[in-house]
Amino acid sequence: MLKVAIVGAAGRMGRTLVEAVHQNNSTMCVSVATVLADDPALGVDIGLLSVGAALGVKTVVGLDHQGADFDVLVDFTSPEATMDHLAYCRANNKAMVIGTTGLSNDQQQSLQAAAADIPILFAPNMSVGVNLCLKLLEDAARVLGDDVDIEITEAHHRFKKDAPSGTALKMGSVIAETLGRDLEECAVYGREGASEERDRKTIGFSTIRAGDIVGDHTVTFASLGERVEITHKASSRMTFASGAVRGAQWIVAQENGLYSMRDVLEL
Ligand code: NAD
Repeated sequence: MLKVAIVGAAGRMGRTLVEAVHQNNSTMCVSVATVLADDPALGVDIGLLSVGAALGVKTVVGLDHQGADFDVLVDFTSPEATMDHLAYCRANNKAMVIGTTGLSNDQQQSLQAAAADIPILFAPNMSVGVNLCLKLLEDAARVLGDDVDIEITEAHHRFKKDAPSGTALKMGSVIAETLGRDLEECAVYGREGASEERDRKTIGFSTIRAGDIVGDHTVTFASLGERVEITHKASSRMTFASGAVRGAQWIVAQENGLYSMRDVLEL
């Protein structure tokens, strides 16, 4: 039985992750679930937060307590919290699945460094469909090349804190890499006040934050006469949680290193 620690268990993704692990309860279970000290869900049985029936595991604060017994930690929290969890897992030799987005370059380098000591799966989007789209985007960029204008539009719910989304940035970096461009140099995040025509070699990003949108991404490759659009729409957080659970089962069998969802899915 694979023992899973879910940090941020009362969050939107945390609750869905508990449900996803429970759906696989013949092979895995949640053995530890953490929340912040001021969370009203502290001390509550995780099953009551997610699946509507007690599962016998109550939420706690932090991992430094007796009984923090787990094989893999799944983290969908905030960049700062993820760095704390990374230090804990590195010191205690535990595998990690990280879905938190908005990590800075320095924080991503910390993942790379820790991956020398533990296996880490890091993906800004755990859905199978988005990871397939990343592959399709590579093909589209290769075929359409510098002849087209490339624009990435994303929409998420009103509570999302980082922008553009980690998925949109990942899409941009896959396209930029395929075309031999540096995303940091070619990305355009806003055009207010611009007074020049579009530079063909830029990649534009547009962000919508509204209501309860789970996550939409469209990449447009447009020339004069036609355009190709690759779109992914998530309608349930379970799509990300199922990917994370699949990733958790996979990462515990890997050597130390930093892996992506494309490794898990063999894309
Ligand atoms: P959320 O705000 O609903 O949940 C985050 C939870 O983490 C909160 O309950 C918060 O109290 C808790 N938390 C923060 N620090 C903590 C700590 N030190 N210990 C314990 N709990 C802590 O947010 P969400 O919508 O669930 O998203 C969380 C993250 O996951 C975001 O970065 C989001 O962009 C990302 N995300 C990734 C994917 C993916 O597929 N990779 C999918 C959806 C969301």
